[in-house]
Amino acid sequence: MEDFQGALAKEPFTRAMECGALQKKALGPNCDRCGLPWARFPIDAHYWVALDGHEVSMWDVPENERWFVGSDGYVVKDAGMGMPADADCLFAHGIVCPLGDGPDHSYPILLELYQEYRRSTRGFGP
Ligand SMILES: [Zn+2]
Repeated sequence: MEDFQGALAKEPFTRAMECGALQKKALGPNCDRCGLPWARFPIDAHYWVALDGHEVSMWDVPENERWFVGSDGYVVKDAGMGMPADADCLFAHGIVCPLGDGPDHSYPILLELYQEYRRSTRGFGP
């Protein structure tokens, strides 16, 4: 029984780490790589995840990178199964961070945003 309770207590933290979330006090308003503002969304009472502010059709985002805003205001990383086919979703800033590798070419909307960010931050970074 203790193990079960222990697992329950640890679960939110583990989930937050898997999602790339950071404690609220540690996550600033801008990307620490490119300096662009990102959108911070709570995944629970203690953690924020840094998403891009654009909402796009979930079909334009890889299945394992879709974030949905729940009725409680928290965001959930979800494949989108069971969502209406026209549902929009959010996605991590890291996918389109101009100092990152950029999204896969099979996601043209994300790729376009990534290239736009690269143009807007030209002169910064490497
Ligand atoms: Zn960035």
